[in-house]
Amino acid sequence: MCDCGDQRPTKMQRVNGEETQDLGESHVAVGSAVTAPKTENTALAGAQPFGASHYSDFLSNVSNFKIIESTLREGEQFANAFFDTDTKVRIAKALDEFGVDCIELTSPAASEQSRKDCETICKLGLKTKVITHIRCHMDDARIAVETGVDGVDVVMGTSKFLREYSHGKDMMYITKSAIEVIEFVKSKGIEIRFSTEDSFRSDLVDLLSIYQAVDKVGVNRVGIADTVGVANPRQVYDLVRTLRGVVGCDIECHFHNDTGCAIANAYTALEAGATHVDTSVLGIGERNGIPSLGGFIARMYAADRDYVMNKYNLKALRSVENLVADAVQVQIPFNNPVTGYCAFTHKAGIHAKAILANPSTYEILKPEDFGMSRYVSIGHRLTGWNAVKSRAQQLSLDLTDEHIKAATNRIKVMADIKDQTMEDVDAVLHVFHRAIANGQDVSHDKVFDRLLEQHNQSGAVEDETSETQAS
Ligand SMILES: [Zn+2]
Repeated sequence: MCDCGDQRPTKMQRVNGEETQDLGESHVAVGSAVTAPKTENTALAGAQPFGASHYSDFLSNVSNFKIIESTLREGEQFANAFFDTDTKVRIAKALDEFGVDCIELTSPAASEQSRKDCETICKLGLKTKVITHIRCHMDDARIAVETGVDGVDVVMGTSKFLREYSHGKDMMYITKSAIEVIEFVKSKGIEIRFSTEDSFRSDLVDLLSIYQAVDKVGVNRVGIADTVGVANPRQVYDLVRTLRGVVGCDIECHFHNDTGCAIANAYTALEAGATHVDTSVLGIGERNGIPSLGGFIARMYAADRDYVMNKYNLKALRSVENLVADAVQVQIPFNNPVTGYCAFTHKAGIHAKAILANPSTYEILKPEDFGMSRYVSIGHRLTGWNAVKSRAQQLSLDLTDEHIKAATNRIKVMADIKDQTMEDVDAVLHVFHRAIANGQDVSHDKVFDRLLEQHNQSGAVEDETSETQAS
């Protein structure tokens, strides 16, 4: 762990025996807690309301896709990234544990250390396929096939920008080089993908011609790369679907997130017949990166929970994200899918009530599937009596609904001045509980204020003990 762990807004604590996020003192963990909802989460238990079964399109691979995890290639292009051998090995093992289909490594031609690291990872005996990403060049291909990789991804720019200002090669030259590299790699019994770069700003006829040519010589996959993040989902659908009609091999897609469309584009590509999607942990990569592994997984879970649950170890997501966040010195974004600070926190009273009755009302992802907990935030002016009641039950305070409603009104009055901590909320509940037991009328402001003051001065230690026992 590097020291950036301490800068995170979320510190970790154990609640009910599980490691969970501490969201501050005014949140109640629910789920496996005392207030575990009794209603089965039926909407997520079987058929999905917007699930894959609703797609009649025979091209769709929403329920049959593979992940090429590129944290150790694309992710190494992230501004903060420097992975030493040990870090690469730990990330590779964590991704293997999560269950990604392939991990992609930086080209062994990039540097001597990159080549050694590639060999080291190939020798780990991972279940996942290890592939490396090289330029479409025989020099790079010769180095790559000696490292022990299962596959080689080659890439060549085909847009007019790259042809004019980068490598300066014409399409005939590009096609000839691609075929030479593909035939060489295949002759070594190693899987190969050919991808164009900046595909969405390339000429469609050029693209389809080269994909057709490489398909004919037996490439395993062709790749479409939105290297600059310009594509929108509709353009993605059109291009992938057209390509699907032209080649018989697998189709991989690589989307950059410059305009926030990366995950949507990846999903749409699968709908149109793509088979493989590139991700990186937390989306790290060149500029602002590519689809995050967690975000993409959340999207696919919402489409086909069974497929995702059976194939990937979702409970390992948070640890792989923490590992990479530490390695590149960033925090987990507050709005990160699944693991973000408030991904499963419910605040509004009306939401809290429904969540306590049945989490499916306001949750499309089940936190427990990812090893997470849901929270209901209660110490604020939007709170509702059902959430307050669930807290009273956690504290084993026997109060009628009328009392709970009166206590809730007190909390709202106090929260109009400032948000209340969980300790503040608990104090109100304890005051109500004691006053009622002693026959005191807490509906009078003066009585309530006096009892609250007494509680805050003398009752803290006693209450802390009783809370510990109740939780
Ligand atoms: Zn990229």
